[in-house]
Amino acid sequence: MQMLAPAKINLSLDVLGRRDDGYHQVSMVMQTIALFDRVHVEEVSRSGVFLSGGSSEAPPDRSNLVYRAAALVLARAGRTGGVAIDLVKNIPVAAGLAGGSSDAAITIKLMNRLLGLGWSLAEMEALAAELGSDVPFLIRGGTALASGRGEQLTALPAAPTFWLVVVKPPFGASTPRVYQALGAPPYPGGQHREGATAKVMAALAAGSYGALIAAVGNDLEQVTIGWHQELQELKEALVRHGCDRALMSGSGPTILGFTEHEDVARQAAQAIEQSAYWSGYGVWVAKTLTEQEGNEG
Ligand code: ATP
Repeated sequence: MQMLAPAKINLSLDVLGRRDDGYHQVSMVMQTIALFDRVHVEEVSRSGVFLSGGSSEAPPDRSNLVYRAAALVLARAGRTGGVAIDLVKNIPVAAGLAGGSSDAAITIKLMNRLLGLGWSLAEMEALAAELGSDVPFLIRGGTALASGRGEQLTALPAAPTFWLVVVKPPFGASTPRVYQALGAPPYPGGQHREGATAKVMAALAAGSYGALIAAVGNDLEQVTIGWHQELQELKEALVRHGCDRALMSGSGPTILGFTEHEDVARQAAQAIEQSAYWSGYGVWVAKTLTEQEGNEG
């Protein structure tokens, strides 16, 4: 049995403060996109989790979030049997696209189905929260508001369908390091009376792509782009090549170009791909997914 694990982008990421437990309190609008890993699960007679595939950056060992998700499901379900899991990675790692979190969420959903556990979406989200802040959102996907440390979810109207040029630089960004560098409030420019999240939610309620593009924002950009000035140039290049707006996803360093038109996205992607200046940068074109489309994957 297999399922596709979609990447996640942020339409907004407001950092509201730092909590006593060291996590930052966030308010962000998350969106799944059609850039996928693939997870295949089978029951085996030996007990335990047998993981294959992955990649050099996400090896198939006990550190992999898929391994941890599968072991957690077996333990919580009280099953003594085992599963063999094969993971095909396409989503770039440590990119701000939550690939590992999505693999973990899909592993929980697949095992729930394969082992006939009968867990509800809410039950799977609660289990997912034990694996990481972004994992619960990826149980349902689509468009949602995430608050707390990212694990408290509220459904939002589906975003109007649009296209993204996804550009991953040849270096990663560690999410904990980015938050650490942001430090404690007050953040530069981080007065949250008018954060991006409220504006993005208003645009979603109005069903307006134009308002959405004007509203998107990410408080972590200042940190990651501060370290890598070429990301600012990359944002400008995407807009020059036809995108309506460009924004960093999550803690980065992936930069997203937004457009309503597939042909514009493909032309902008090709321009970046063919430019010697951006050699070594990975480029993908993906459209947004609704919760329903994600579940058909
Ligand atoms: P986020 O936006 O949630 O911060 P990210 O895109 O920055 O996610 P991931 O690709 O999900 O980061 O992975 C972050 C780290 O988790 C990697 O450095 C990797 O070592 C580890 N990891 C464990 N399992 C996986 C997996 N299945 N896929 C990718 N990374 C994994």
